Amino acid sequence: MAFDILVTNGTVLTVNADFEVIEDGAVGIRDGRIEFIGAAADLADPAASRMLDAQGGIVLPGLVNTHTHMPMSLFRGLADDLPLDSWLRDHIFPAEQRYISPETVHAGALLSCAEMLLSGTTCCCDGYFHEDSVAEAVHAGGIRAVLGQGVIDFPAPGVPDPGTNVQCALDFVRKWKNRSKLISPAIFCHSPYTCSAQTLSSAKDAARAEDVLFQVHVAETCGEGKAVGLDDGTSPVAWLAGLGVLDENTLAVHAVWADALDIGVLADHGAMISHNPESNMKLASGVAPVTEMLAAGLTVGLGTDGCASNNNLDMIAEMGTAARVHKAALLDPTVMNATTVIRMATIEGARALGLSDRIGSLEAGKEADLIVVEARQPHMYPLYHPASHMVYAAKGSDVRHVMVAGRLLVEDRMFQHFSLSGVMADVRRIAGEVRRTDKKMDFSG
Ligand SMILES: [Zn+2]
Repeated sequence: MAFDILVTNGTVLTVNADFEVIEDGAVGIRDGRIEFIGAAADLADPAASRMLDAQGGIVLPGLVNTHTHMPMSLFRGLADDLPLDSWLRDHIFPAEQRYISPETVHAGALLSCAEMLLSGTTCCCDGYFHEDSVAEAVHAGGIRAVLGQGVIDFPAPGVPDPGTNVQCALDFVRKWKNRSKLISPAIFCHSPYTCSAQTLSSAKDAARAEDVLFQVHVAETCGEGKAVGLDDGTSPVAWLAGLGVLDENTLAVHAVWADALDIGVLADHGAMISHNPESNMKLASGVAPVTEMLAAGLTVGLGTDGCASNNNLDMIAEMGTAARVHKAALLDPTVMNATTVIRMATIEGARALGLSDRIGSLEAGKEADLIVVEARQPHMYPLYHPASHMVYAAKGSDVRHVMVAGRLLVEDRMFQHFSLSGVMADVRRIAGEVRRTDKKMDFSG
C-alpha cells in the first residue's frame, strides 16, 4: 500500500541503538508512523501520496527540548545580565504577576511553538502557570509536548491561593489526560527553595497517583541549600531524595551543583536529568557535571530553559553549546562528542520524558517526528559526518521541513497550519503594554 509521505534523497541519521547513518536513505510514513526506513535502493514500492525531496539534506529525528517555560518568550530580553535570584525576584516574578493571563500565556506559548518548530524541535517539556492556555496553544501549534501546571508556595498567576496549588496542578492533569495524542500532562513543582517539604511531597504523591512526570528545578545555583534552609549541609538533591520525590518519573532540571554523592543518589533513584547549558551559563549558575552523570548511567536530556534566560529556544544552538562548554570546562576535547550530544537532544531526551518507545529515533514502528536540514549551503559544505554538522556547523534556521506524527507542519521553512504574522502581532501588542507600564524598565543600559 502506498505511503502517505515518502522522504527521499537525504542522509538519514537514524539515532537508533547503533547510530546508523543511511546514505541516500528513504523514510516511508503511513498513518503517522514510520513504516519503512533504509536505503532508497531497497525500497520495493516507492508509491506515495506525497513525495518529500530532502535535496541532499540531513534527515533526523525531531529534537526534544526537555525544559521550557513557553510563555516566557514574552519576556525575551526584558532583563539580562543579572544573577538568578535578582533576575527572578526583581524582574521575572513581578512581570509575571502583572502581565501573565490566560490570553498572554496563549500568545507567548504559540510564539514559542513557532520558534521551536522552525528550528527543528518537535517535542518539548514545559512548566508554567495557566498551563491550560499553554495546552490550547500547543494543540493549535501541532507540536508534541509534556506540560506541567506550576506549583509554587506563593500567589501565582491563576493560582492566587497557594493552598490550592497542588489541586490546580492535579485538575490540569485530569483535564488533559487522554485528551490529545500529542499532549502528556505532568506536574511542575518549581523548586526546593520556592516549595515546602509538604508541597513537594503532596505534588509528587499526586503525580505518582496519576502516573505522570514530576518536574522540578534542583541544585541550579551554589547557594540553593542555604535558600532552602538546609543549614546542616544536606544538599538539595539529598533533601528531595529524603522527601521521596526522586524516582524514574522525576525530571531533575539543571542539577548544576550535584556533587558525586548527589549523582549517586540521582542514579540510585533512577531520576532523569534535564541539562540546560546556555541558561546555566547566562545566569552564571555554573557547568553541570554531565560527563560524571553519563558515567553514572543517568539519562540526561538537553533543554533550553525559558527563553528569558537563554534567550532562545533553538536546540541546534544548544547542542553546539553542550558539546563545547564541557570541553572547555574540563580541558578535554574528547568529552561530549557529537554523537553523545545528538542522542541527548533526541532519544535520551525522549527517554527522560518517558516517550522513548514512541519518539526520539527514526525506526520502523515509531511515530514520525522528523526534520530535514538543508545541507547545500556554504557553512554545511562538504558533508563528511552528518552528526558533526548537526552539532558544530548547523543553525536552527537551516531546518527546512518539520513533521510531527507524520503531519508536515513546516515545509520549506513555512508554516502550513497557522499564521506566524498573526502570532507575532499578538505578542507585539502585549510587549507594547509591558513597555508602556513597566516604569522600572531601563532600556538605556
Ligand atoms: Zn526552568
